Amino acid sequence: MDLTILYRGPLASCDYDCPYCPFAKRRDSRAQLAADRAALERFADWAAGQQEDRLSLLFTPWGEGLVRSWYRRTLVELSRLPHIHRVAIQTNLSCRTDWLAAADRDTLALWCTFHPGQTPYDRFLTKCHDLAARGVRHSVGVVGLPEHLEYARRLRARLPAHVYLWINAAEGHTYTDAEADQWTALDPLFPYSRRPHRSAGLPCRTGESVISVDGEGTVRRCHFVRSELGNLYDGSYRRALRPRACPSAVCDCHIGYVHLETLPLYDVFAGGVLERIPAEPSPGRALGRTAGP
Ligand code: SF4
Ligand code: SF4
Repeated sequence: MDLTILYRGPLASCDYDCPYCPFAKRRDSRAQLAADRAALERFADWAAGQQEDRLSLLFTPWGEGLVRSWYRRTLVELSRLPHIHRVAIQTNLSCRTDWLAAADRDTLALWCTFHPGQTPYDRFLTKCHDLAARGVRHSVGVVGLPEHLEYARRLRARLPAHVYLWINAAEGHTYTDAEADQWTALDPLFPYSRRPHRSAGLPCRTGESVISVDGEGTVRRCHFVRSELGNLYDGSYRRALRPRACPSAVCDCHIGYVHLETLPLYDVFAGGVLERIPAEPSPGRALGRTAGP
């Protein structure tokens, strides 16, 4: 079967200090790092052994994974396995990039977020051009706070045209139509992020072809619904996979609502759902400037 897995282990530390993040500059103890490493390696071993499935994997650490050698090595190793269709990670791109040379770049992809104030714009842009030169699939994005607008405009102007720039609506922030238009001019898909999606009772692929796994192998349908479907490592999750309606009132995170069957996002992001790369390099052209709910 085709199975998409979002993995989030215990890692909760980050080298950045974003004012909008609870994990900013948190430090994990040596024991916590060792536990994260062991959990990741257990998951990677399991994934490597599932050769009868076609797996698409997205690592969504609370903190920053790619500054840790075990995330870099795991991504490279998994990318080289024939039954791994995609392996991607969310990153602030603070890491070096030479390790990517060992990866299968048809399989590995990066979801990169620029955090103004944490790294110089030029340094981040240079890293993005480095990824493009290496042929690494990646999307680039910014949280849509007013103080980020000029940075986002500069990124859109200077990133290669084929690199998609996404804008995430800032949590708890409401946008006037005029403000939303400014962001939509940069990311034609911003209307999907602008407001939470009402999801109660709607069919969502999570719990059927998409699951969330934590460091202990506990399987849930998604990162946002706490009820458990079983465990990955004893195989008990498998019996629970079936079509399911969303039990939550709303879904307001891209890594959740992208799987809602009532939205067209599997078509919009065909081939790049996990790393957030649209099938059409200029998605506004395909959908019209008024795209979105
Ligand atoms: S880079 Fe990401 S994880 Fe790190 S502080 Fe910023 S938002 Fe949080
Ligand atoms: S719509 Fe969102 S919250 Fe609801 S089940 Fe799907 S991913 Fe989870």
